[in-house]
Amino acid sequence: MLYDLIIIGGGPAGSAAAVYAGRKHLKSLMLVYEFGGQSIVSEDIQNWIGTVSLSGQELAKNFKKHVETYSKDFVVIKEGEKAIKIEKDKDIFKIKTDQNNEYVTKTILITTGSNRRKLKIEGAKKFENKGITYCASCDGPMFAEKDVAVIGGGNAGFETAVQLLAYAKSVTLLDIEENYKADKITIDKVLANPKMTGISNAEIIKINGDQFVTGLIYKNKKIGEEKTLKVEGIFVEIGQIPNTETVKNLLELDEYNRIKIDFKNQKTSLEGIWSAGDCTNVLYHQNNIAAGDGVRALEDIYLYLHAK
Ligand SMILES: Cc1cc2nc3c(=O)[nH]c(=O)nc-3n(C[C@H](O)[C@H](O)[C@H](O)COP(=O)(O)OP(=O)(O)OC[C@H]3O[C@@H](n4cnc5c(N)ncnc54)[C@H](O)[C@@H]3O)c2cc1C
Repeated sequence: MLYDLIIIGGGPAGSAAAVYAGRKHLKSLMLVYEFGGQSIVSEDIQNWIGTVSLSGQELAKNFKKHVETYSKDFVVIKEGEKAIKIEKDKDIFKIKTDQNNEYVTKTILITTGSNRRKLKIEGAKKFENKGITYCASCDGPMFAEKDVAVIGGGNAGFETAVQLLAYAKSVTLLDIEENYKADKITIDKVLANPKMTGISNAEIIKINGDQFVTGLIYKNKKIGEEKTLKVEGIFVEIGQIPNTETVKNLLELDEYNRIKIDFKNQKTSLEGIWSAGDCTNVLYHQNNIAAGDGVRALEDIYLYLHAK
């Protein structure tokens, strides 16, 4: 069976594209390791447009149901199956999976997302989603009038601080290095806010808490002194690891291993492959954005298949 399209991934980007593929009657296959994507662990998602509040598990169930409803005879769903290799042979792509299956297709949409780099210190696992979070625009409002910390002094850390300053009583940004990596203009602007404190050379040693986070202990790397910071929220921004291993020899990636795309239409560097969501070199990472990117890709794929 030669598919029109194979979608890899079942987060918001892949699921949105699959709904459109079904409704547009594209003969498609969806390889989904797990429906829902990164926010599946979230207890309360408050910014999925059209739904005031739902858990990550509910979001995942809704994605699956929505795709199944419109898949009919057009979208075959392979859940729990991972793409491990992609090859191009003239105008046809072959995808091999971890279940020893091989599928052939005219086009591919990659929506494999990313994983957040996590703190590997005492208390980090225990307090995940109990004060430790990875998304200011998702969870920031829950920390209104509270003291919070941001870990990481790159652009993502400073952008997170900017968002938190709108709600929090105070924001302390800690970076392990002497110098912050963010743009100077951003650093100066953010640190000028009276609610903001920046601490460099700070190695996080431990997260304190009972049921929820109550603070953290950090060590000044230069003088070895340990200090406790009392905070109720800790926003970790120490990098993302995009799931792009399978395409690293096939597609152009940026310096962070994210797939480079044409922002007009989600096309990658190789004709016949599109990509959307957090595995691409876009600036912002949100469910709504990933879903929109997935739809943009699908519209372009549809046009490509029918105008060819
Ligand atoms: C803890 C947390 C909470 C968040 N909360 C919110 C929130 O409240 N609101 C919000 O807007 N955003 C939130 N985000 C951000 C949001 O989850 C992401 O921006 C979004 O999930 C990106 O969607 P995506 O489809 O690009 O990729 P992902 O969600 O990462 O999905 C990737 C998909 O690909 C599959 N996959 C990966 N590799 C393979 C493979 N080789 N073969 C087959 N399948 C594969 C995965 O199983 C998954 O289905 C949160 C992020 C985190 C980490």
